[in-house]
Amino acid sequence: MTGSSRKNDDYFKSKFRGCLLGLAAGDALGAPFEGAWPTTASQVLASAAERTRFRYTDDTHMAIGVTESLIACGGFDGHHMTEVFIRNFDREPWRGYGAGPPRIFQKIKAGASWNEAAEDIYPGGSYGNGSAMRTAPVGLFYREDVGNMATAARGQSKITHTHPWGQEGAFLQALAVALAANSEPLLSPGEILARLQEQAKEGLYLQKLDQIKNLLGTDNPAEIASVLGHGIEAFNAVPTAICCALRHPHSYADAVVEAVSLGGDADTIACMTGAISGAGLGIEAIPEEWLAKLENSDYLEKLAVELWEAARL
Ligand SMILES: [Mg+2]
Repeated sequence: MTGSSRKNDDYFKSKFRGCLLGLAAGDALGAPFEGAWPTTASQVLASAAERTRFRYTDDTHMAIGVTESLIACGGFDGHHMTEVFIRNFDREPWRGYGAGPPRIFQKIKAGASWNEAAEDIYPGGSYGNGSAMRTAPVGLFYREDVGNMATAARGQSKITHTHPWGQEGAFLQALAVALAANSEPLLSPGEILARLQEQAKEGLYLQKLDQIKNLLGTDNPAEIASVLGHGIEAFNAVPTAICCALRHPHSYADAVVEAVSLGGDADTIACMTGAISGAGLGIEAIPEEWLAKLENSDYLEKLAVELWEAARL
């Protein structure tokens, strides 16, 4: 390996590690605030400081499943990924899963196909944020190939969330991760926003991406939640997560603390913000004391390096 390719290797390993550990730390930071009223940054930091362990929730648990399947298959395979989701759920069903996934998994175990079970349970499809919260590894893996990224992000969404708004949220979150992770020089928040707008198809998302521009400079974070939302619907969570990451392009901690402080679906929004911010800034940007408290961090590190190696082939 030459000096420059080793530098490139280390650079991307840091970004892949930053993304996976960043999403897990954001999820864990936000977990005690899930469903809460908006709070202050200092309360979020105090909660982090008083905890001895950072425990992540279903968001990270499912992102682990996405990563494991991408590594094992060398790309997206819907049938395989569904089997991994079911295996992981059966091992740790206490991670805070919503009502949907266990019902869908049960139906698949009884013989339904992976891309039809969700539609049978939710006619018209779910547009919850559950497929966007886990999609970051797809953005890393396909970071230089928007066409295959869109197919994989939307494909993994169909396992549980088939509505076009659910699929679009999963794609835009993956794309935001890819744009943040891509090579030097780093894209500016304005450039990332413009690229997302080029690729978005659904009017609801186009409108919210447009509104992010006006929120990048606001000194009133409550405005973010009131304009973009902070809920469990993908369109009320993905633009919000992107906004928090873009408002703090040089600080992972400021980005995820702000995401948690908005309240609402705090663990999921902070998980998605953490994925984008960690992919952009690399592992070095995540506070060491948070990484030291984060459960399963060795396994997440190992997965990140294996995902980088699989993506590079
Ligand atoms: Mg959760």
